[in-house]
Amino acid sequence: MIKKAAIIGLGGMGGWHYEMITAQINEIEIKGAYDIREEVVENIKSKGLYAYSDADEIFSDTEIDIVIIATPNDSHKDYIIRSLKAGKATICEKPVTLGSEELIECIKVSKDTGCLFSVHQNRRWDRDFNIVKSVISSDVVGYPYFIESKVQGSRGSMHGWRGHKLNGGGMLYDWGVHLIDQLLYLIDSPVISVDAHLVKIFSDEVDDNDKIFIRFENGLDAIVEFSTNCFINHPRWHVSCSNGTFTVDDWDCGGKIAKLSGDGAMTWDNDIVYTSAGPTRTMAKRPPETTVQLPLPKVTVDWGDYYQNIVAVLDGNAELIVKPEECLRVMQVIDAAFLSDEKRSGVSCNI
Ligand code: NAD
Repeated sequence: MIKKAAIIGLGGMGGWHYEMITAQINEIEIKGAYDIREEVVENIKSKGLYAYSDADEIFSDTEIDIVIIATPNDSHKDYIIRSLKAGKATICEKPVTLGSEELIECIKVSKDTGCLFSVHQNRRWDRDFNIVKSVISSDVVGYPYFIESKVQGSRGSMHGWRGHKLNGGGMLYDWGVHLIDQLLYLIDSPVISVDAHLVKIFSDEVDDNDKIFIRFENGLDAIVEFSTNCFINHPRWHVSCSNGTFTVDDWDCGGKIAKLSGDGAMTWDNDIVYTSAGPTRTMAKRPPETTVQLPLPKVTVDWGDYYQNIVAVLDGNAELIVKPEECLRVMQVIDAAFLSDEKRSGVSCNI
């Protein structure tokens, strides 16, 4: 049976949810939307949607099965709790809340009401991320021991409400939440320490250029970086493995795998080589025939698969992919990152 949904906040991302569901998800129909801005109300009507006069009208609409929340970050918690209490399956944009305490409250209400609750961590379906997952699970370059995951831009200050602390602005909530979610989804091990450098280049209020060093109990470590003041980018992913290295350059997914060929054994002609920076043994160039370059695997992914999973869960045919408990770990890492930055040192944890 077709499920009816309403969207709260029909701005940039709310508009994307509307377009995507209407184009791709036959099992969900968007009935209407609510937004506080008058010009958006006109936009809602022009799409032929019902313009709700407030959120309560959505919550009391018995036709509505699913509520999608796509408002600025500070308003998420209140809407989630009201929506769940009204008995609606509730999907919220990321970051789901502004910290783990708020999310624990939301999870409790979802458990009490038995309503589906999920977070739109759509970047679990990014192609670059799924290439990384595929290379690691294929074991083609051995086991990974260091992952660098970076999104770097040079746009400058955070725009609109993202520039304000009150609204839950800043890069950690905006992009950090995606990169941390991907990492925790990829690595099946507790986080044991977080060391964050959250820099405010353009504002006194919110972080805009961040690097976070994350250690996992299984010995794998990672750095995530999200910046708005970077003019020479690193690859989107650089992964060091026991038997080689691989990179994914950017969202177009160029990149390569470089690994030892054969058994990897090699003999050095000269112990010491002379480079333009002087003599060295350790940094002597490896003979080209001792390595091999492989193309990255091809993967096919679609952000719409997030909603295919929601439909299947509501129909009782699948397990939820983006679980609130997983998002809670992400929020706990974010809490630890804010604490680490405040103390200007790493913090130990067990997340
Ligand atoms: P936006 O400013 O473009 O849109 C927000 C909309 O919410 C606006 O139309 C605004 O009028 C409306 N609004 C504000 N406060 C409201 C309230 N209290 N009640 C009802 N409507 C309200 O912002 P955006 O870029 O669409 O971001 C919205 C959410 O989506 C944020 O949580 C953001 O982090 C998330 N987002 C997620 C992704 C993703 O890839 N998952 C991408 C972009 C944004």
